[in-house]
Amino acid sequence: MSIGVIADDITGACDVAAGVTSAGLSAEVRLGIPDAAEPTDAACVVVALKSRTAPSADAVAASVASAAALRSWHVQTLYLKYCSTFDSTDEGNIGPVADALLDLVGPTAASIGTPATPRVGRTVHRGHLFVGDRLLSESSLARHPLTPMTDPDLVRVLGRQTSRPVGCIPIEAVRAGVQAVRDRIDALRSAGVRHLLADAVEDEDLDVLATATAGMPDVVLGGAAGLVAAVARRVGTAADGRPAPAPSGRRLLLSGSASERTRAQVAAFAGRVFVIDADAAVRDPEAVIAAALAFVAGAELPLVSATADPPQVHRAQAAWGAVRAAAAVEHVLGRVAQRAVADLGVRRILVAGGETSGAVAQALQVRRLHVRRVVSVGVPWMTAADPAGRRLDLCFKSGNFGEVDLFTRAWEEG
Ligand code: ADP
Repeated sequence: MSIGVIADDITGACDVAAGVTSAGLSAEVRLGIPDAAEPTDAACVVVALKSRTAPSADAVAASVASAAALRSWHVQTLYLKYCSTFDSTDEGNIGPVADALLDLVGPTAASIGTPATPRVGRTVHRGHLFVGDRLLSESSLARHPLTPMTDPDLVRVLGRQTSRPVGCIPIEAVRAGVQAVRDRIDALRSAGVRHLLADAVEDEDLDVLATATAGMPDVVLGGAAGLVAAVARRVGTAADGRPAPAPSGRRLLLSGSASERTRAQVAAFAGRVFVIDADAAVRDPEAVIAAALAFVAGAELPLVSATADPPQVHRAQAAWGAVRAAAAVEHVLGRVAQRAVADLGVRRILVAGGETSGAVAQALQVRRLHVRRVVSVGVPWMTAADPAGRRLDLCFKSGNFGEVDLFTRAWEEG
């Protein structure tokens, strides 16, 4: 197996699988810690965890167990996938998980990587992360409810999460080419640096990094979907032909994302919408689920949505606590997905939001996903089978991904 990826959420895992598949490598997404006794034919396995905001100890345990399974399959490249906006806090989880993976790999192991993903506007210069034209700390991520990113200097951010020294591979070295990067990596490692974050502004920079690190011993690569796609481009062949057709069956849109882009997508959707009220989801989830299912049964392209403006989300969080409100909404959306498949003939589901997608995938009990068709950058339709053997077409969309008309356009095949 060429590449083994540990992703800290399911939408990120699907984003990676889309990029790797487009580069001509076969990819499989596995939900949760994989069973080492169940290998795969895919050239790239992406383990989808729900560890971005989990307690550090849980994130470390799940990541180490996943890495052990991947290493037992002799992966050539071990890759830690985190968010392109480096979503984390001073407690982790990027640093603690990377440290634990280095412990697994060996005493002189090093992590090398970058969250830069130029095609979605994430670039790194002098160790500072930019979102479009703005520094990370001036983007909407500075106000993220769980992982507010108020410091754009990633060397400093990661430095607060690990006791191992952190250093930067500057853009000059990257632009000077493969050998210059290798020399810089050797110099930094000789000086005791164990986490190396690289500047990258264009896809070509990522290609240089992928080539420079190929075959390096005792290295864990890390970053977002950009660098792993570059690794796949290095070893992959041309992307293959036409995608498989979508399964027949009814369609369903589910949104639990609170992100700006998803709010715009919900607002732009011209079809029928069932709005989930977070208060009602906490007080009487069964009634909300029943009402949502009655709505789904009667609409051709139903959208069941909890997406609300920030003040409304804050009101629910103030009343019930953020964790309880989120869990109630996730429970309702997960159950609606599961009952819609079991009872209403729904086979094609688009889900907006990372945590929401994790909850829906869990409720559907799907274990393995394969890319069928990429709709938009980082947004693929995935094929899966549920425990009853029903073939499902699932699109797990990260909150800020996809064009504004995605909820309508995603269904257009060909
Ligand atoms: P995103 O990160 O794009 O906002 P996620 O699904 O990852 O999407 O996270 C959104 C979280 O907010 C989910 O846990 C969801 O259940 C919760 N949520 C969604 N709508 C509401 C709401 N109206 N009130 C409170 N919490 C909500």
